[in-house]
Amino acid sequence: MTSPAPSPYVGRFAPSPTGPLHAGSLVAALASWLDARAQGGRWLLRIEDVDTPRCVPGADQVILAQLAALGLVPDEPPVYQSQRGLLYQAALDSLVARNLAYPCACTRADIAQANAALGLVKPRHGELVYPGTCRPENGGLRGRAPRAWRLRVPQGQAARWGWQDRRLGAQTQALDTTVGDFVVRRADGLWAYQLAVVVDDAAQGITHIVRGEDLADNTPRQQWLQQCLALPTPVYLHTPLVLGPHGEKLSKQHGAKALQACDALTDIHGAGLVLGLDASEITLENWLKTAVNAWPWA
Ligand code: GLU
Repeated sequence: MTSPAPSPYVGRFAPSPTGPLHAGSLVAALASWLDARAQGGRWLLRIEDVDTPRCVPGADQVILAQLAALGLVPDEPPVYQSQRGLLYQAALDSLVARNLAYPCACTRADIAQANAALGLVKPRHGELVYPGTCRPENGGLRGRAPRAWRLRVPQGQAARWGWQDRRLGAQTQALDTTVGDFVVRRADGLWAYQLAVVVDDAAQGITHIVRGEDLADNTPRQQWLQQCLALPTPVYLHTPLVLGPHGEKLSKQHGAKALQACDALTDIHGAGLVLGLDASEITLENWLKTAVNAWPWA
């Protein structure tokens, strides 16, 4: 009897085109590339341009050029989330048809008020837990105009979501008390990150997700959504964050500097150090080769 062939590895880097790559996003790009290469897999690129107000025209091309200069070249042309609305709509339709998603009329102020009435005043990372006000069984829209669409999360014991991260180990999150029913289509009509990312990871056949640790607490929501849509769950690895001088996460909003396009080796060496790789090769090509062999997570 022959054993089945191992499933092929498909990884991805999924930047939002809100500006050029910075030291933090380079770590995620490099780690996802190294993991794919170390495991003989393919590496895809997805431009996450659903949040159009935050996108900067031309930033996708800048990111592609930066990646190419760093020797990180995707195995297929990039896909753009802005062109995939029909897929997201089909996913939402399927959730609604099964009463897993429902329309919500609440504003942020409504949610804050409902939280306060329940004695839940502390927002998690500034996000308010949705208390289920517009769930159909709680009275639904009550004549108010629908704004966003929300996905139901399990309640009680079933809400304790356990998952495994290759670097962080066993993780848990109580979906009901830390997140609540979450938005899959926003009040401004845009597709929510959670829905788009889950639909696309499945559509692109992604088997391994490697991304920054700041996204780790989205994983239970995404795995729950995968389950609701009967999609496979990839394997997860969340990489260390690059912190600013005051311990804050680097992001374009906090003025993180773009990479020095003229010195790819310095940039990649810096990103490697964050990942525990201290190769001192003098050409980019050799650095990448050495790093693939030294990649600790393979
Ligand atoms: N587009 C997201 C970001 O740039 C990454 C999404 C993901 O890797 O799941 O932060």
